[in-house]
Amino acid sequence: MIRQASLPPIAVIGAGFSGTMAALQLLSALPPDRPVLLCERGGSFARGLAYGTGNPAHLLNVRAANMSAFPDRPGHFEDWLARSGLGGVGAAGGVVRTPAGTFVARGHYGSYLSELLTGAVTGPGTPRLQLVNDAVVDLEPRAGGYLLRTEGGQTHRIAGAVLAMGNLAAAAPKSRHSLDPWIPENFGRLHPHAPVLVVGTGLTMLDTVASLRAHGFSGAILALSRRGLLPNAHTPAGTWPAPDLTPADFASLPRLLARLRAEVARARVAGIGWHGVIDALRPLTDTIWRGLPAAEQARFLRHLRPFWDVHRHRTAPPAAATIADEIGRGSLTVRAGRLLAIEDEAAQALVTLRFRGAKRTERLAVQAMIDATGFGHLAESRDPLLRRLSEQGLVRPGPFGLGLDAGTDYRAIGTGLGEGGGPLWIIGPLLRGVLWECMAVPDIRNEAAELAGLVAAHCDRAVAA
Ligand SMILES: Cc1cc2nc3c(=O)[nH]c(=O)nc-3n(C[C@H](O)[C@H](O)[C@H](O)COP(=O)(O)OP(=O)(O)OC[C@H]3O[C@@H](n4cnc5c(N)ncnc54)[C@H](O)[C@@H]3O)c2cc1C
Repeated sequence: MIRQASLPPIAVIGAGFSGTMAALQLLSALPPDRPVLLCERGGSFARGLAYGTGNPAHLLNVRAANMSAFPDRPGHFEDWLARSGLGGVGAAGGVVRTPAGTFVARGHYGSYLSELLTGAVTGPGTPRLQLVNDAVVDLEPRAGGYLLRTEGGQTHRIAGAVLAMGNLAAAAPKSRHSLDPWIPENFGRLHPHAPVLVVGTGLTMLDTVASLRAHGFSGAILALSRRGLLPNAHTPAGTWPAPDLTPADFASLPRLLARLRAEVARARVAGIGWHGVIDALRPLTDTIWRGLPAAEQARFLRHLRPFWDVHRHRTAPPAAATIADEIGRGSLTVRAGRLLAIEDEAAQALVTLRFRGAKRTERLAVQAMIDATGFGHLAESRDPLLRRLSEQGLVRPGPFGLGLDAGTDYRAIGTGLGEGGGPLWIIGPLLRGVLWECMAVPDIRNEAAELAGLVAAHCDRAVAA
């Protein structure tokens, strides 16, 4: 309940990690008379897509030491872990200590975030944070702000909004035998032995295999992607200084690659693996991405992205070991290739595949297909709010059709049609394309703090005008 508030709130739409941290940072940055509305359509706040799982095999793929929610309090999550009593529970309880660091069940991380949010709603002083548990379906421009409408019929006058809605969902499934990797409860309906196809071989595939096994599926899984590459596992940390790159180094992709290969060779001589060099690039990645000419960015997306992804987005060693064991036993096959066609039959789908390097296609019968490729595009989004914002010209696709377009100040860039509304900001994976590192906690926590400062400065100017 908002009390003693005189100014229209800033709404944050989506309460996964991005929205939760944007809301908490806004509470610190905005003056006391500016409330914050945090809207979430799902059953729980703060956990989002990643941290709602109760499967202890779903581990964080980032070391606990780097999972603080706050950029200026690096040990915050580890301290919480120790205080919560979970720090000592061990692998069965979802805290796995490895030579590469401690990896914690994602559900525990969700509890950490929930606690942070609860503290803000019930903390001392007038709570300025209002939680709205409903899907936002429209933002109608009104006198320099918006009228926010929810699916359940609520309306709220707001001054501006932060879109924190996570990745654009994948396009509509192409078969009635498709299953959503984010609704693993449905895996319990599968025949325990008939084969399953997973499209994608990245981190989502690893999760999907763990979910299939947790739901009693013991049959064969074929995982297929363009290159058939699996995520690398984390290794014991070896740190390497950020390379001293100049704009000339990232004027062309071959030059940048040559420069990085030289850096890896130097690190190796010093006893540090490529992991250290990739990690050292992290604070520079967005500068590099923005500095690459558009043609070079397109080349990166066409040829290098799968290789970058498996080096940069690494997995917890226990998750990598489970997958290696599945492959060793023949229960999981990982292949490079393309899915060419799908024919639905009553109880199965016939899929036509061409494995990489093969001249002939192959047809396989699978009981289900699970799309673990990750992202969708604005044009194919079925989300009512994004469709409305797009129709009104308030948002448009980001570079190369990835995510949504925005400026360096996180302000959404539309087609110019939508007039008369307030500012719209964007945070998190929706910025993919504008930024390159906007998907994981260590990046989003920085963005949330920076964004809150920019929103506060905007609100100050608006009040003074
Ligand atoms: C399976 C998985 C594992 C991951 N593991 C890690 C990890 O270990 N470490 C790490 O750093 N990163 C990890 N990530 C990256 C992850 O993307 C970020 O850490 C972060 O969780 C992104 O959160 P988000 O809030 O941007 O998106 P999401 O978690 O997708 O949250 C978006 C929220 O918006 C809500 N929403 C959408 N539209 C509306 C609407 N119209 N109205 C109201 N609500 C709406 C959704 O219901 C959802 O709760 C993982 C990602 C996934 C998918």
